[in-house]
Amino acid sequence: MGLSMKTVWLVIPCYNEQEVLPETSRQLKKIMQHLMQQEKISKDSRIAFVNDGSKDATWQMISQLHDEDSLFVGINLAHNRGHQNALFAGLMVAKEHADAAISLDADLQDDVAAIEQFVDKFNAGKDIVYGVRSTRKTDTRFKRSTAHLFYKFMNFMGADTLEDHADYRLMSKRALEALSEYEEVNLFLRGLVPLIGFETDVVYYERHERFAGESKYPLKKMLSFAVEGITSFSIKPIRMITVLGFFLFSISILLLIYFFITWLVGYTVAGWTTIVISVWGIGGLQLLALGVIGEYIGKTYLEVKHRPRYTIERVLYQEEKNETKSAEDTEK
Ligand code: UDP
Ligand code: MG
Repeated sequence: MGLSMKTVWLVIPCYNEQEVLPETSRQLKKIMQHLMQQEKISKDSRIAFVNDGSKDATWQMISQLHDEDSLFVGINLAHNRGHQNALFAGLMVAKEHADAAISLDADLQDDVAAIEQFVDKFNAGKDIVYGVRSTRKTDTRFKRSTAHLFYKFMNFMGADTLEDHADYRLMSKRALEALSEYEEVNLFLRGLVPLIGFETDVVYYERHERFAGESKYPLKKMLSFAVEGITSFSIKPIRMITVLGFFLFSISILLLIYFFITWLVGYTVAGWTTIVISVWGIGGLQLLALGVIGEYIGKTYLEVKHRPRYTIERVLYQEEKNETKSAEDTEK
């Protein structure tokens, strides 16, 4: 292999992950060393932790890892911007140095043994490799069924995503460059990446339980993530409202004809029920329609402001390995 060896970066967003970092870094280091020995990746490959504005000792731990071993790269965001933005920030830094980047979670839920398969597929010429969960045994029944519904609903609403693929994936440099061209502020990476194209492949893996600590994705965040996914990729909800409005309008016309006929034959009722029902029905429908439209207007508002998706406070990256201890601190 020799000269053709590729530089691969692992990109791991971290938010309050002090409980898992020691074990995660240990396991990932072992795998990277193994891959280097096998000459599947170059010695310039790195493990990059992106600190997403953690409130615990996460950043101190990352800087210490970097000080001890330049295999570790630290990227410190100025503020918590959420998983998708943190991941994006890390990928954009990786793009400058690596031939490919693999994104994974800090909590060891994405089976790290699959990394070798990602690398193999990349070395075989694939630009994007998706990690897809083979089973959902370790999830609670609730999470499993809600996740399934989520994909069904997403695809129905017009946002095509790969079922059971989260954000465990490999992207080549040119795929990352293509990704950087997408300028939207409302990020939903797993919906964006399939739009890029290129040759893709899939790696199946077993998803484990979180190694330690708590999920940073409570139900509330999951729901907003679903809304984000749908409204970022389709205008189907707006169209459905139009269809619904048209449908209800047709019904009211039919009812009008019906009431006119009953009036003609002289059978008149008090009509209280009809009025109350229609007032509530139409009122509810209008609120729903306004809500959906508001959702899109809010999105447009966020996009037109063109605010940066993230701000990097500091990057700990040392080009040469095992050289002087002083790290090249790039402050941005
Ligand atoms: N994460 C992040 N910023 C956030 C929330 C989460 O960078 O605001 C990271 C987190 O540290 C982890 C990954 O995103 O590496 C996935 O989060 P988590 O494991 O809590 O989600 P779950 O697996 O429960 O869906
Ligand atoms: Mg997790």
